[in-house]
Amino acid sequence: MGSEISPEPLKAGALPLSHGVSWPLSSPASAGKRLEDRSAPADQESAPEDRLHLYLSPHFDDAILSCGGLIYAQCQAVERAGVLTLCAALPDPDALSPLARRYETEWSNASGGVASRREENAAALSAWGVSSWEGGAADAIYRNRLGAPYYATRQELFGEPDPEDAAAVLTVWERQVKQIAREHGHAVLLYAPLGVGGHVDHELARRLAQLMAEAGCEVRFYEDYPYAELTPGGVREAMARFGLGPHAWTCHTVAIDVRAKIEAIEQYRSQLGRVFGCEKDLIRRVSEFTAGTACAFSARERMRRRLAPSGLRLRLWRRSLGYHAHAERIWRLT
Ligand SMILES: [Zn+2]
Repeated sequence: MGSEISPEPLKAGALPLSHGVSWPLSSPASAGKRLEDRSAPADQESAPEDRLHLYLSPHFDDAILSCGGLIYAQCQAVERAGVLTLCAALPDPDALSPLARRYETEWSNASGGVASRREENAAALSAWGVSSWEGGAADAIYRNRLGAPYYATRQELFGEPDPEDAAAVLTVWERQVKQIAREHGHAVLLYAPLGVGGHVDHELARRLAQLMAEAGCEVRFYEDYPYAELTPGGVREAMARFGLGPHAWTCHTVAIDVRAKIEAIEQYRSQLGRVFGCEKDLIRRVSEFTAGTACAFSARERMRRRLAPSGLRLRLWRRSLGYHAHAERIWRLT
């Protein structure tokens, strides 16, 4: 999240999945293609342990909020994971729009300026041994054309990206992703937001992933959390923006260690109040959302959903029976 809100342990290569296959930890080496050479013969491609799982995170905490469980599982499986935070650049303090000033005031009240958010992100990722890169663009609220903001209101922040802004940031980000891939020297599997919620930075990250897919990179899409939780039908709406039919998509539901995910989210202290209100609600919401996702493979969670979908029944169920499974969902274009 950035300028957005005003508001069973895993075993390596053996993730329980809704489709009964182990993916992506034990998928074939050919699943990821070299960015520079699409025609590399299969025997020259990377073994899974050499592959880099590279998460495109529009803002500092998006990757962990949306995919923290999957990232943790990959780290446990001794696979290499990295996060490129796209909007990580420091803003020019002398060129802040009124909207940016409003956000700055709110963030400074929560000690959540860019510098402290960078530190939180670095601490969360390094705790798991996740590589971290910072993108060369500032948050959308800071970007401007000769001092005139591209996005002057919250409505614009959740509208269509400005074409000039889109061209500029996509050029910078595309170069950075290719540079990371070159330095890594092995296959890269990209994970990008679907763009649920419609924030311009998430939408631009989605477009970046499509550009990279056209350049030969293997791409997966994740459900932007908490937008996917707060926007009924948001995932379907985001998919519609790809202009492809529902048959173009395959869903993979991956069991996660929710405690590890929650602990990582807690590292982003400056955002907790804005996103969740309090720590208790963070634990409840993340646990409940990931348990709902686990209905894809957990018969007990499906029974819970049928008998205790919400409200008092749900509270009583959790109090007496607890949670049965947790999961995250990842999408790929077939
Ligand atoms: Zn975000």
